[in-house]
Amino acid sequence: MNPYKIYVLQYARRDAVYGELKLGDIHDATPLDLAYFMWVITNGEHTAVVDTGFTEEMCARRGRQWLCDPRERFESIGIDPGGIEHVVISHMHWDHAGNYALFPKATFYLQEDEMAFWTGKYVRYPVFRHAMEVEDVVALVRLNYDGRVHFIDGSEEILPGIRVHRVGGHTKGVQITEVPTASGTAVVASDAAHTYLNLRDDRPSPIIHNVPEYLDGFALMRRLAKEESYILPGHDADVMRRHPIVREGVALLE
Ligand SMILES: [Zn+2]
Repeated sequence: MNPYKIYVLQYARRDAVYGELKLGDIHDATPLDLAYFMWVITNGEHTAVVDTGFTEEMCARRGRQWLCDPRERFESIGIDPGGIEHVVISHMHWDHAGNYALFPKATFYLQEDEMAFWTGKYVRYPVFRHAMEVEDVVALVRLNYDGRVHFIDGSEEILPGIRVHRVGGHTKGVQITEVPTASGTAVVASDAAHTYLNLRDDRPSPIIHNVPEYLDGFALMRRLAKEESYILPGHDADVMRRHPIVREGVALLE
């Protein structure tokens, strides 16, 4: 098996403060440069994408700053999203699980209890619902009816060497993706860790399902990854400074 490279594609951003993402300390005014990413994992032979992101229309509705159509980021690294066959959905929040039309050939890899939760009784409560878009949930239900959702319960090797692990914490069934690269094991955390500050402080985000699972997830990622920079957080633009920029809005870990 050839080692994988991970391309980090940034397509949107916003200014924030750490307090928005720091459970128990909402007044921390440390500025955060928040990024919105998709991750492309490839070794030439096998390719997977983590998360589908959101559309420009949704970006405007949610008041984020649109940088670029993600399709252009894919094209800049020579990958046609229309041909992608494997897409991991880390969790079903609006900023990670929309824009399915970008991947017409893909199978979507999702934890069973993530779908169960967002189609279950607790979504009637605004505290859970505000991070969701019902049309994105319905789209994923339709994809399941089309046979295009591969459900996972726990850990699974989805392609040679690429493993997903349910960690929970942020949402009921948020999953991380473990990737062997030539220089060591990397982990696409997505929102199992929003930023490096959350990891450093062992401080979950207040958008939360289960605190102990969140903390166990941090510990698991540290165990799996070669070092901190090999953990790719869900929203930390610092990723674009820790790794070489190979195209506009594209960092590379290899
Ligand atoms: Zn997110």
